[in-house]
Amino acid sequence: MPTRRLFCVMVGLALLSAGGCSRDKTTPPKPAAKQADGSWPNIVLISIDTVRRDHLGCYGYPRQTTPHIDRLASAGAVFENMVSSASWTLPAHAAMLTGLADTVHGALDTDRKLTEDRETLAERLKAVGYTTAGFFSGPTLHPAYGLGQGFDTYVDCTAYPELSAASAEQGKGIEVGGPLQVAAMHDVSSPRVYAAFQAWMNEPHPRPFFLFLHFYDPHFDFIPPPPYDTMFDPNYQGTATGQNFIFDDQINAQMPRRDLDHLIALYDGEIAWTDAHVGKVLDDLDAAGLRDSTLVVLLADHGIEFFEHNGKGHRHTLFDELIRIPFILRYPGHVPPGQRHSPQTRMIDVVPSVLDLVGLPAAKNVMGQSVVPVIEGGKLAQDNLAVSELFSLGRAFRSFRRLDRKLIRQEPTGKALVFDLQADPGEHTPLGDSSNVLVPAARRDADQGSQWLVDFLKQVPRSTGGPELPDKVRKQLESLGYLRGKE
Ligand SMILES: [Zn+2]
Repeated sequence: MPTRRLFCVMVGLALLSAGGCSRDKTTPPKPAAKQADGSWPNIVLISIDTVRRDHLGCYGYPRQTTPHIDRLASAGAVFENMVSSASWTLPAHAAMLTGLADTVHGALDTDRKLTEDRETLAERLKAVGYTTAGFFSGPTLHPAYGLGQGFDTYVDCTAYPELSAASAEQGKGIEVGGPLQVAAMHDVSSPRVYAAFQAWMNEPHPRPFFLFLHFYDPHFDFIPPPPYDTMFDPNYQGTATGQNFIFDDQINAQMPRRDLDHLIALYDGEIAWTDAHVGKVLDDLDAAGLRDSTLVVLLADHGIEFFEHNGKGHRHTLFDELIRIPFILRYPGHVPPGQRHSPQTRMIDVVPSVLDLVGLPAAKNVMGQSVVPVIEGGKLAQDNLAVSELFSLGRAFRSFRRLDRKLIRQEPTGKALVFDLQADPGEHTPLGDSSNVLVPAARRDADQGSQWLVDFLKQVPRSTGGPELPDKVRKQLESLGYLRGKE
Protein backbone atom coordinates (compact mmCIF):
# COMPACT_ATOMS: atom_id res chain seq x y z
CA MET A 1 0.00 0.00 0.00
CA PRO A 2 1.93 3.02 -1.24
CA THR A 3 -0.13 5.43 0.86
CA ARG A 4 0.66 3.56 4.02
CA ARG A 5 4.35 3.36 3.12
CA LEU A 6 4.39 7.09 2.50
CA PHE A 7 2.73 7.62 5.84
CA CYS A 8 5.40 5.52 7.56
CA VAL A 9 8.16 7.47 5.85
CA MET A 10 6.57 10.72 6.97
CA VAL A 11 6.31 9.47 10.54
CA GLY A 12 9.94 8.34 10.36
CA LEU A 13 11.00 11.79 9.20
CA ALA A 14 8.99 13.38 11.95
CA LEU A 15 10.68 11.13 14.50
CA LEU A 16 14.11 11.97 13.13
CA SER A 17 13.42 15.64 13.69
CA ALA A 18 11.84 15.05 17.08
CA GLY A 19 12.53 17.87 19.47
CA GLY A 20 16.02 18.16 18.12
CA CYS A 21 19.12 19.79 19.47
CA SER A 22 19.91 23.39 18.83
CA ARG A 23 21.35 24.51 15.49
CA ASP A 24 23.08 21.88 13.40
CA LYS A 25 26.77 21.89 14.26
CA THR A 26 27.76 22.38 10.63
CA THR A 27 25.74 25.60 10.35
CA PRO A 28 27.84 28.67 11.10
CA PRO A 29 26.42 30.99 13.74
CA LYS A 30 24.54 34.03 12.51
CA PRO A 31 26.32 37.37 12.39
CA ALA A 32 26.53 38.82 15.85
CA ALA A 33 23.76 41.23 16.76
CA LYS A 34 26.22 43.56 18.41
CA GLN A 35 25.49 47.20 18.87
CA ALA A 36 26.68 49.82 16.39
CA ASP A 37 29.70 50.50 18.60
CA GLY A 38 30.66 46.83 18.54
CA SER A 39 29.61 46.07 22.10
CA TRP A 40 27.34 43.22 23.13
CA PRO A 41 23.79 44.08 24.19
CA ASN A 42 22.70 43.86 27.80
CA ILE A 43 20.12 41.22 28.68
CA VAL A 44 17.35 41.53 31.30
CA LEU A 45 15.37 38.34 31.93
CA ILE A 46 12.23 38.95 34.01
CA SER A 47 10.40 35.90 35.40
CA ILE A 48 7.10 36.51 37.20
CA ASP A 49 5.95 33.59 39.29
CA THR A 50 2.51 32.03 38.83
CA VAL A 51 1.17 34.26 36.04
CA ARG A 52 -1.32 32.76 33.59
CA ARG A 53 -0.97 34.23 30.12
CA ASP A 54 -4.71 34.89 29.94
CA HIS A 55 -4.57 37.36 32.87
CA LEU A 56 -2.33 39.84 31.03
CA GLY A 57 -3.75 42.75 29.05
CA CYS A 58 -1.47 42.03 26.10
CA TYR A 59 -2.93 38.51 25.96
CA GLY A 60 -6.49 39.79 25.81
CA TYR A 61 -7.51 39.99 29.47
CA PRO A 62 -10.23 42.64 29.83
CA ARG A 63 -8.91 43.98 33.16
CA GLN A 64 -6.06 46.47 33.07
CA THR A 65 -3.72 44.24 35.06
CA THR A 66 -0.51 44.92 33.13
CA PRO A 67 -0.18 48.41 31.59
CA HIS A 68 3.61 48.32 31.87
CA ILE A 69 4.07 44.79 30.52
CA ASP A 70 1.65 45.77 27.75
CA ARG A 71 3.91 48.65 26.67
CA LEU A 72 6.87 46.27 26.69
CA ALA A 73 4.81 43.90 24.54
CA SER A 74 3.75 46.59 22.06
CA ALA A 75 7.42 47.54 21.59
CA GLY A 76 8.43 43.93 20.95
CA ALA A 77 7.18 40.48 20.07
CA VAL A 78 4.45 38.53 21.87
CA PHE A 79 4.44 34.75 21.60
CA GLU A 80 0.88 33.51 21.84
CA ASN A 81 1.58 29.85 22.51
CA MET A 82 4.41 29.53 25.00
CA VAL A 83 4.42 26.33 27.08
CA SER A 84 6.33 25.76 30.30
CA SER A 85 8.24 22.59 31.05
CA ALA A 86 6.47 22.21 34.39
CA SER A 87 3.60 23.46 36.53
CA TRP A 88 5.77 24.68 39.40
CA THR A 89 8.73 26.83 40.17
CA LEU A 90 11.91 24.78 40.52
CA PRO A 91 11.84 22.61 37.37
CA ALA A 92 10.37 25.42 35.25
CA HIS A 93 13.17 27.82 36.20
CA ALA A 94 15.80 25.13 35.71
CA ALA A 95 14.45 24.62 32.17
CA MET A 96 14.30 28.39 31.61
CA LEU A 97 17.95 28.81 32.60
CA THR A 98 19.40 25.69 30.91
CA GLY A 99 17.29 24.98 27.81
CA LEU A 100 16.86 21.39 29.03
CA ALA A 101 13.68 19.42 29.65
CA ASP A 102 13.00 18.60 33.29
CA THR A 103 14.01 14.95 33.10
CA VAL A 104 17.32 16.02 31.59
CA HIS A 105 18.18 18.99 33.84
CA GLY A 106 17.23 16.77 36.77
CA ALA A 107 15.80 19.37 39.20
CA LEU A 108 12.50 17.49 39.30
CA ASP A 109 11.63 17.96 42.97
CA THR A 110 12.87 19.76 46.05
CA ASP A 111 15.04 16.80 46.99
CA ARG A 112 16.96 17.38 43.75
CA LYS A 113 19.03 20.30 42.51
CA LEU A 114 20.39 21.55 39.24
CA THR A 115 23.81 19.93 39.27
CA GLU A 116 27.09 21.63 38.37
CA ASP A 117 27.43 19.65 35.15
CA ARG A 118 24.44 21.52 33.68
CA GLU A 119 25.41 24.76 31.95
CA THR A 120 23.17 27.73 32.69
CA LEU A 121 22.57 30.81 30.58
CA ALA A 122 24.39 32.87 33.21
CA GLU A 123 27.43 30.61 32.99
CA ARG A 124 27.37 30.79 29.23
CA LEU A 125 27.16 34.59 29.22
CA LYS A 126 29.72 34.99 31.97
CA ALA A 127 32.15 32.90 29.93
CA VAL A 128 32.02 35.43 27.07
CA GLY A 129 32.45 38.44 29.34
CA TYR A 130 29.03 39.38 30.66
CA THR A 131 28.63 40.68 34.20
CA THR A 132 25.85 38.57 35.68
CA ALA A 133 23.44 39.21 38.55
CA GLY A 134 20.27 37.52 39.77
CA PHE A 135 17.61 38.78 42.18
CA PHE A 136 15.13 36.15 43.38
CA SER A 137 12.16 36.19 45.72
CA GLY A 138 10.90 32.60 46.05
CA PRO A 139 12.23 29.74 48.17
CA THR A 140 13.06 27.29 45.37
CA LEU A 141 15.22 29.87 43.60
CA HIS A 142 17.64 29.60 46.53
CA PRO A 143 21.19 28.76 45.40
CA ALA A 144 20.88 25.44 47.25
CA TYR A 145 18.81 24.28 44.26
CA GLY A 146 21.57 25.17 41.83
CA LEU A 147 19.85 28.01 40.00
CA GLY A 148 22.46 30.55 41.08
CA GLN A 149 25.12 28.96 38.88
CA GLY A 150 26.97 31.54 36.80
CA PHE A 151 25.77 34.66 38.63
CA ASP A 152 28.50 36.96 39.94
CA THR A 153 25.86 38.27 42.33
CA TYR A 154 22.79 36.26 43.34
CA VAL A 155 20.62 38.11 45.83
CA ASP A 156 17.95 36.58 48.06
CA CYS A 157 15.20 39.24 48.07
CA THR A 158 12.85 37.29 50.34
CA ALA A 159 11.97 38.31 53.90
CA TYR A 160 13.15 34.91 55.15
CA PRO A 161 16.70 34.19 53.89
CA GLU A 162 17.64 32.50 57.17
CA LEU A 163 14.75 30.02 56.82
CA SER A 164 15.83 29.15 53.28
CA ALA A 165 19.43 28.71 54.38
CA ALA A 166 18.42 26.47 57.30
CA SER A 167 16.19 24.38 55.06
CA ALA A 168 18.97 24.02 52.50
CA GLU A 169 21.47 23.04 55.20
CA GLN A 170 19.17 20.34 56.50
CA GLY A 171 18.63 19.08 52.96
CA LYS A 172 14.98 18.48 53.66
CA GLY A 173 13.53 20.36 50.73
CA ILE A 174 10.54 22.56 51.40
CA GLU A 175 8.03 20.99 53.75
CA VAL A 176 4.41 21.47 52.66
CA GLY A 177 2.78 23.75 55.21
CA GLY A 178 6.10 24.19 57.00
CA PRO A 179 7.51 27.51 58.21
CA LEU A 180 9.43 28.21 55.00
CA GLN A 181 6.38 27.73 52.77
CA VAL A 182 4.20 29.80 55.10
CA ALA A 183 6.78 32.61 55.16
CA ALA A 184 6.85 32.57 51.36
CA MET A 185 3.04 32.76 51.20
CA HIS A 186 3.00 35.79 53.52
CA ASP A 187 5.86 37.66 51.87
CA VAL A 188 5.40 40.79 49.76
CA SER A 189 8.69 40.95 47.92
CA SER A 190 8.43 43.00 44.71
CA PRO A 191 9.78 46.20 46.35
CA ARG A 192 12.83 44.28 47.56
CA VAL A 193 13.49 42.85 44.08
CA TYR A 194 13.21 46.32 42.58
CA ALA A 195 15.41 47.87 45.31
CA ALA A 196 18.10 45.22 44.72
CA PHE A 197 17.97 45.87 40.98
CA GLN A 198 18.12 49.63 41.58
CA ALA A 199 21.07 49.31 43.96
CA TRP A 200 22.93 47.15 41.47
CA MET A 201 22.28 49.59 38.64
CA ASN A 202 23.58 52.47 40.77
CA GLU A 203 26.93 50.74 41.22
CA PRO A 204 29.58 50.70 38.53
CA HIS A 205 29.73 47.33 36.75
CA PRO A 206 31.51 46.24 33.59
CA ARG A 207 29.19 46.02 30.58
CA PRO A 208 27.50 44.17 29.09
CA PHE A 209 25.33 42.77 31.86
CA PHE A 210 22.89 39.91 32.20
CA LEU A 211 20.28 40.51 34.90
CA PHE A 212 17.75 37.93 36.05
CA LEU A 213 14.81 39.33 38.03
CA HIS A 214 12.40 36.91 39.66
CA PHE A 215 9.15 38.41 41.03
CA TYR A 216 7.06 36.19 43.31
CA ASP A 217 4.03 38.16 44.51
CA PRO A 218 1.32 36.70 42.20
CA HIS A 219 2.08 33.34 43.85
CA PHE A 220 -0.48 32.69 46.63
CA ASP A 221 -1.34 34.14 49.11
CA PHE A 222 -3.19 36.97 47.37
CA ILE A 223 -2.45 39.95 49.60
CA PRO A 224 -1.69 42.91 47.31
CA PRO A 225 -1.02 46.22 49.11
CA PRO A 226 -3.43 49.13 48.59
CA PRO A 227 -4.70 50.28 46.15
CA TYR A 228 -4.26 46.95 44.38
CA ASP A 229 -6.29 45.09 47.02
CA THR A 230 -9.51 46.79 45.91
CA MET A 231 -8.58 47.66 42.35
CA PHE A 232 -10.60 44.97 40.59
CA ASP A 233 -13.45 44.26 43.03
CA PRO A 234 -14.07 47.49 44.97
CA ASN A 235 -17.67 46.69 45.96
CA TYR A 236 -17.12 43.24 47.46
CA GLN A 237 -19.01 42.85 50.75
CA GLY A 238 -18.23 39.20 51.54
CA THR A 239 -15.76 37.58 53.90
CA ALA A 240 -13.40 35.77 51.50
CA THR A 241 -9.76 36.84 51.73
CA GLY A 242 -6.73 35.89 49.72
CA GLN A 243 -5.01 34.49 52.80
CA ASN A 244 -4.23 30.80 53.28
CA PHE A 245 -5.51 30.13 49.74
CA ILE A 246 -3.99 26.69 49.40
CA PHE A 247 -4.74 25.26 52.85
CA ASP A 248 -8.15 26.83 53.62
CA ASP A 249 -10.74 24.09 52.98
CA GLN A 250 -13.43 26.75 52.60
CA ILE A 251 -11.74 27.67 49.34
CA ASN A 252 -12.98 24.75 47.27
CA ALA A 253 -14.71 23.95 43.99
CA GLN A 254 -18.15 24.36 45.60
CA MET A 255 -17.51 27.79 47.13
CA PRO A 256 -19.84 30.63 46.06
CA ARG A 257 -18.84 31.98 42.67
CA ARG A 258 -18.98 35.54 44.00
CA ASP A 259 -16.33 34.76 46.61
CA LEU A 260 -14.14 32.96 44.10
CA ASP A 261 -14.39 35.96 41.80
CA HIS A 262 -13.13 38.09 44.66
CA LEU A 263 -10.08 35.84 45.11
CA ILE A 264 -9.39 36.10 41.38
CA ALA A 265 -9.65 39.90 41.67
CA LEU A 266 -7.05 39.78 44.44
CA TYR A 267 -4.81 37.59 42.26
CA ASP A 268 -5.21 40.16 39.49
CA GLY A 269 -4.30 42.85 42.03
CA GLU A 270 -1.05 40.98 42.74
CA ILE A 271 -0.31 40.90 39.01
CA ALA A 272 -0.97 44.67 38.73
CA TRP A 273 1.17 45.35 41.81
CA THR A 274 4.02 43.33 40.29
CA ASP A 275 3.49 44.99 36.91
CA ALA A 276 4.03 48.38 38.58
CA HIS A 277 7.48 47.18 39.73
CA VAL A 278 8.27 45.81 36.28
CA GLY A 279 7.36 49.28 35.02
CA LYS A 280 9.92 50.84 37.36
CA VAL A 281 12.59 48.48 36.02
CA LEU A 282 11.72 49.42 32.43
CA ASP A 283 11.70 53.13 33.32
CA ASP A 284 15.12 52.84 34.95
CA LEU A 285 16.55 51.16 31.85
CA ASP A 286 15.13 54.00 29.76
CA ALA A 287 16.45 56.65 32.14
CA ALA A 288 19.92 55.07 31.97
CA GLY A 289 19.81 55.29 28.19
CA LEU A 290 19.88 51.49 27.88
CA ARG A 291 16.60 50.85 26.09
CA ASP A 292 18.11 50.34 22.66
CA SER A 293 21.10 48.35 23.87
CA THR A 294 19.17 45.90 26.04
CA LEU A 295 17.27 42.73 25.18
CA VAL A 296 14.38 42.35 27.61
CA VAL A 297 12.77 38.92 27.98
CA LEU A 298 9.64 38.62 30.11
CA LEU A 299 7.84 35.39 30.95
CA ALA A 300 6.31 33.40 33.82
CA ASP A 301 7.31 30.04 35.20
CA HIS A 302 3.78 28.55 35.26
CA GLY A 303 0.14 29.51 35.76
CA ILE A 304 -2.51 28.78 38.37
CA GLU A 305 -5.80 26.89 38.58
CA PHE A 306 -9.01 28.35 40.00
CA PHE A 307 -11.05 25.10 39.91
CA GLU A 308 -11.12 24.73 36.12
CA HIS A 309 -10.37 21.06 36.82
CA ASN A 310 -11.67 20.98 40.40
CA GLY A 311 -8.34 21.97 41.90
CA LYS A 312 -6.57 25.12 43.03
CA GLY A 313 -3.04 26.44 42.92
CA HIS A 314 -0.38 24.72 40.85
CA ARG A 315 2.02 21.73 40.92
CA HIS A 316 -0.86 19.25 40.74
CA THR A 317 -1.74 18.84 37.04
CA LEU A 318 -0.42 19.69 33.57
CA PHE A 319 -3.59 21.29 32.21
CA ASP A 320 -3.16 24.45 30.15
CA GLU A 321 -4.10 26.88 32.93
CA LEU A 322 -0.87 25.73 34.58
CA ILE A 323 1.56 25.36 31.68
CA ARG A 324 0.63 28.15 29.24
CA ILE A 325 2.65 31.25 30.07
CA PRO A 326 3.40 34.67 28.60
CA PHE A 327 6.59 35.14 26.57
CA ILE A 328 7.62 38.61 25.38
CA LEU A 329 10.84 39.82 23.75
CA ARG A 330 11.88 43.45 23.28
CA TYR A 331 15.09 44.38 21.51
CA PRO A 332 14.80 47.62 19.55
CA GLY A 333 16.32 47.40 16.10
CA HIS A 334 16.39 43.61 16.17
CA VAL A 335 12.85 42.57 17.12
CA PRO A 336 10.28 44.59 15.14
CA PRO A 337 7.65 46.15 17.40
CA GLY A 338 4.05 45.01 17.50
CA GLN A 339 4.63 41.43 16.40
CA ARG A 340 2.43 38.57 17.57
CA HIS A 341 3.55 35.03 16.81
CA SER A 342 1.38 31.94 16.91
CA PRO A 343 3.79 28.99 16.59
CA GLN A 344 4.11 26.97 19.77
CA THR A 345 7.25 27.84 21.70
CA ARG A 346 8.64 26.20 24.83
CA MET A 347 10.49 27.04 28.01
CA ILE A 348 13.52 25.20 26.62
CA ASP A 349 13.60 27.67 23.72
CA VAL A 350 14.49 30.64 25.95
CA VAL A 351 18.25 29.97 26.19
CA PRO A 352 18.82 29.33 22.45
CA SER A 353 16.64 32.35 21.57
CA VAL A 354 18.55 34.71 23.85
CA LEU A 355 21.91 33.48 22.55
CA ASP A 356 20.73 33.81 18.96
CA LEU A 357 19.32 37.32 19.50
CA VAL A 358 22.58 38.63 20.91
CA GLY A 359 24.56 36.87 18.21
CA LEU A 360 26.25 34.18 20.24
CA PRO A 361 26.59 30.66 18.82
CA ALA A 362 24.10 28.07 20.01
CA ALA A 363 25.01 26.32 23.25
CA LYS A 364 25.98 22.67 22.98
CA ASN A 365 23.62 20.08 24.36
CA VAL A 366 20.58 22.32 24.57
CA MET A 367 17.22 20.79 23.72
CA GLY A 368 15.33 23.92 22.64
CA GLN A 369 15.62 26.01 19.51
CA SER A 370 15.83 29.69 18.67
CA VAL A 371 12.62 31.57 17.90
CA VAL A 372 14.56 34.12 15.82
CA PRO A 373 13.52 32.52 12.49
CA VAL A 374 9.89 33.27 13.46
CA ILE A 375 10.76 36.88 14.31
CA GLU A 376 12.38 37.13 10.89
CA GLY A 377 9.17 36.02 9.21
CA GLY A 378 10.07 32.38 8.70
CA LYS A 379 9.35 29.14 10.46
CA LEU A 380 10.91 27.35 13.40
CA ALA A 381 13.80 25.25 12.14
CA GLN A 382 12.89 22.13 14.07
CA ASP A 383 10.00 20.31 15.66
CA ASN A 384 8.28 22.15 18.52
CA LEU A 385 6.54 19.35 20.42
CA ALA A 386 6.17 20.62 23.99
CA VAL A 387 6.93 18.09 26.72
CA SER A 388 5.92 19.13 30.23
CA GLU A 389 6.55 17.11 33.37
CA LEU A 390 5.40 16.85 36.97
CA PHE A 391 7.20 14.62 39.47
CA SER A 392 6.41 16.09 42.85
CA LEU A 393 4.10 15.74 45.84
CA GLY A 394 3.24 12.17 44.85
CA ARG A 395 2.19 13.16 41.35
CA ALA A 396 3.85 11.79 38.26
CA PHE A 397 2.69 13.06 34.86
CA ARG A 398 4.01 14.03 31.49
CA SER A 399 2.17 15.95 28.78
CA PHE A 400 2.89 16.15 25.06
CA ARG A 401 1.38 19.22 23.43
CA ARG A 402 0.91 20.60 19.95
CA LEU A 403 -1.28 23.50 18.93
CA ASP A 404 -4.22 21.23 18.11
CA ARG A 405 -3.83 18.33 20.53
CA LYS A 406 -2.43 17.26 23.85
CA LEU A 407 -1.87 13.96 25.60
CA ILE A 408 -1.46 13.88 29.39
CA ARG A 409 -0.01 10.63 30.70
CA GLN A 410 0.28 9.33 34.23
CA GLU A 411 3.69 7.79 34.94
CA PRO A 412 4.53 4.99 35.09
CA THR A 413 1.05 3.52 34.62
CA GLY A 414 0.74 4.96 31.12
CA LYS A 415 -2.89 5.92 31.69
CA ALA A 416 -3.50 8.80 29.31
CA LEU A 417 -6.02 11.44 28.31
CA VAL A 418 -6.09 13.07 24.87
CA PHE A 419 -7.65 16.48 24.20
CA ASP A 420 -8.66 18.30 21.03
CA LEU A 421 -7.32 21.74 21.91
CA GLN A 422 -9.19 23.52 19.13
CA ALA A 423 -12.63 22.10 19.88
CA ASP A 424 -12.02 21.84 23.62
CA PRO A 425 -9.41 24.41 24.68
CA GLY A 426 -10.47 24.05 28.32
CA GLU A 427 -9.55 20.33 28.27
CA HIS A 428 -12.84 19.17 29.75
CA THR A 429 -13.78 16.31 27.40
CA PRO A 430 -11.03 13.77 26.76
CA LEU A 431 -11.28 11.96 23.46
CA GLY A 432 -12.03 8.27 23.83
CA ASP A 433 -10.57 5.51 21.69
CA SER A 434 -12.61 6.87 18.85
CA SER A 435 -11.80 7.18 15.21
CA ASN A 436 -10.72 10.76 15.86
CA VAL A 437 -7.39 11.15 14.08
CA LEU A 438 -6.05 13.21 16.95
CA VAL A 439 -5.90 10.16 19.23
CA PRO A 440 -3.29 8.17 17.29
CA ALA A 441 -1.47 11.40 16.45
CA ALA A 442 -1.25 12.32 20.13
CA ARG A 443 -0.01 8.81 20.96
CA ARG A 444 2.73 9.20 18.38
CA ASP A 445 3.62 12.55 19.97
CA ALA A 446 3.96 10.82 23.32
CA ASP A 447 6.16 8.07 21.90
CA GLN A 448 8.27 10.62 20.07
CA GLY A 449 8.65 12.91 23.06
CA SER A 450 9.46 10.05 25.43
CA GLN A 451 12.14 8.74 23.07
CA TRP A 452 13.55 12.26 22.73
CA LEU A 453 13.99 12.47 26.51
CA VAL A 454 15.64 9.04 26.67
CA ASP A 455 17.99 9.82 23.79
CA PHE A 456 18.98 13.18 25.19
CA LEU A 457 19.58 11.76 28.64
CA LYS A 458 21.96 9.23 27.05
CA GLN A 459 23.73 12.09 25.30
CA VAL A 460 24.11 14.16 28.47
CA PRO A 461 23.64 11.77 31.41
CA ARG A 462 22.87 13.25 34.80
CA SER A 463 25.88 13.21 37.05
CA THR A 464 23.75 12.20 40.01
CA GLY A 465 22.31 9.23 38.16
CA GLY A 466 19.50 7.58 40.02
CA PRO A 467 16.14 6.39 38.84
CA GLU A 468 14.06 8.35 36.39
CA LEU A 469 11.60 9.01 39.18
CA PRO A 470 12.92 10.55 42.38
CA ASP A 471 12.91 7.94 45.16
CA LYS A 472 10.42 9.95 47.16
CA VAL A 473 7.95 10.09 44.29
CA ARG A 474 8.42 6.42 43.53
CA LYS A 475 7.68 5.48 47.14
CA GLN A 476 4.65 7.74 47.25
CA LEU A 477 3.31 6.26 44.04
CA GLU A 478 3.84 2.75 45.34
CA SER A 479 2.05 3.52 48.58
CA LEU A 480 -0.82 5.01 46.63
CA GLY A 481 -1.10 2.04 44.33
CA TYR A 482 -0.75 4.57 41.48
CA LEU A 483 -4.49 4.98 41.36
CA ARG A 484 -5.55 7.62 43.84
CA GLY A 485 -4.43 10.66 41.89
CA LYS A 486 -7.16 13.25 41.30
CA GLU A 487 -6.60 12.94 37.56
ZN1 LIG B 1 6.46 29.33 40.50
